[in-house]
Amino acid sequence: PMEPEAMFKQGFLNDVYLERPVKPVLTRFPPEPNGFLHIGHSKAIAVNFGFARYHGGKCYLRYDDTNPEAEEDVYFTAIADMVRWLGFEPYKITYSSDNFGKLYEMAEKLISLGKAYVCHCDDDEIKRQRGGEKGSSPRYRCADADQSVEENMRKFRDMRDGKYKPREAFLRMKQDITDGNPQMWDLAAYRVLDKPHHRTGAEWKIYPTYDFTHCLCDSFENITHSLCTTEFYLSRVSYEWLNKELGVYEPMQREYGRLSLSGAVLSKRKLRELVEKKFVRGWDDPRLYTLIAVRRRGVPPGAILEFVNELGVTTTNSIIQIARFEQTVRRYLERTVPRLMLVLDPVPVVIEDADDLDGTELTVPFSPKAQSAMGDHTIKFTKTVYIDRSDFREADSKDYFRLAPGKTVGLLQAPFPIKATSFTKDEATGKVTEIRAVFDREIKKPKTYIQWVAAEGSGSRKCEVRIYNSLFFSENPASAEGGYLNDINPDSEVVYPDAMIESGFNEVKRRAPWPEAAGEGKSSSSGPETVRFQAMRVAYFALDSDSTDEKIILNRIVSLKEDKEK
Ligand code: ATP
Ligand code: MG
Ligand code: MG
Repeated sequence: PMEPEAMFKQGFLNDVYLERPVKPVLTRFPPEPNGFLHIGHSKAIAVNFGFARYHGGKCYLRYDDTNPEAEEDVYFTAIADMVRWLGFEPYKITYSSDNFGKLYEMAEKLISLGKAYVCHCDDDEIKRQRGGEKGSSPRYRCADADQSVEENMRKFRDMRDGKYKPREAFLRMKQDITDGNPQMWDLAAYRVLDKPHHRTGAEWKIYPTYDFTHCLCDSFENITHSLCTTEFYLSRVSYEWLNKELGVYEPMQREYGRLSLSGAVLSKRKLRELVEKKFVRGWDDPRLYTLIAVRRRGVPPGAILEFVNELGVTTTNSIIQIARFEQTVRRYLERTVPRLMLVLDPVPVVIEDADDLDGTELTVPFSPKAQSAMGDHTIKFTKTVYIDRSDFREADSKDYFRLAPGKTVGLLQAPFPIKATSFTKDEATGKVTEIRAVFDREIKKPKTYIQWVAAEGSGSRKCEVRIYNSLFFSENPASAEGGYLNDINPDSEVVYPDAMIESGFNEVKRRAPWPEAAGEGKSSSSGPETVRFQAMRVAYFALDSDSTDEKIILNRIVSLKEDKEK
């Protein structure tokens, strides 16, 4: 599990707490339900839920659902799922739309205070009021700002009652246009939008803006520390302004840096294009960095939290290389998952003098550490075993230490090393079809050990293995020549259709999720991706959700070593 102390004990989050050292701490994670969460959001989740947990407080999951045009039902479920998968349980699940009534009352109150007015200007006029292109001309206030409270109230109610079409009228806050901060230049509070809302239906024809909604919902929920990303730094002033003018409880907004991965595409529009044009298998394709994709790939939630925790939280945006993320995942898997033998591209080896050992049961540990809590399992040794094509050479050489005619190699866990005697080849394809070998009982400690899988019928099974490499060639696909679709790596998915996995897989699957793989959340702890293991000498794998009882499909989570990556 994550050791969250580091993140909260010192630095940015500690300073934030010391500014307002109250208990209980109340925070919120406020996604707009307009897309699937991505790896960047895991930082927001860890920061908000972690901060509350660290201080013995609570964190809301609040759907910021004020824009009926962009929101869809599937996202609501997927978001809550991901929060739980990361191991956090929301104190309450709330919706900004729960507060539409209260927000409306606050708007009327603001009008009564002479701090809001109904404006009829179009976009061009507003731009001129705000100083034109790049602020090249003097700012001035909208003439509508001088309307009486009564007139503003009447017009606002007309907005509410559907008497205006979209863009004909909107409610603006009367802030301070002389302030240097554009967030004080009479921001919009409500706009007319005749669209049904997924929760409130046709009840509302006006919807509040982010700037009006967020600070008030935080206030209604008594949020103590409202943590958001740095693009909201300038919004802090308008956030504080509105709560103060209305005389309501004032939460404290502070901003931390966003997390992004170089070489990954996170924008919804680009992801949609990759999915729709079938460059990937779907929104959860293991090559993507949506959280559903990272989960499907087999990355444990605990590894994600460890990654966020290691990076720490500051006010700078960080762009992290995928290799660094994978390094954390690898280290996490190294100590949490069992080991098995898998062969990607099998070639049979007939061991001529193995008749007496054919079918022998071998007890092998799931982890190399003696007395490991993971325990042992048994596999059968068979006269014919399968090894990987890449572990055999037709001609031996001095600097080569795996199998070749006349050369001896060790078989992991097996009773004796083997020495190849001959091989057969398919003339048409030039591929080796069978190797013959004998035990080499002389050599006690061969230079190299290779993995193998026993013959079918002994519990080992065929499987499909999908090896994932980076989806894009460049570190910054968005600015690649010809666009990011031109930057796609054609070898981002390499499939081995005839791989073989040893019988221990059945037990790994039955026992999943392994208790060692802590950090697994509640809702999805029984998913196929919890069937994770290290295939010795190959990579880390997890069971893919396309698998069936008949067909095993495995995803490569990460390679064993970083340098083998490219
Ligand atoms: P995106 O457009 O990438 O989906 P967003 O800014 O629209 O992100 P929401 O979906 O509304 O964000 O996200 C909910 C919370 O997650 C916000 O508080 C937001 O600041 C935070 N968040 C979003 N992206 C990141 C990121 N890359 N790193 C850290 N926090 C993020
Ligand atoms: Mg979003
Ligand atoms: Mg957003």
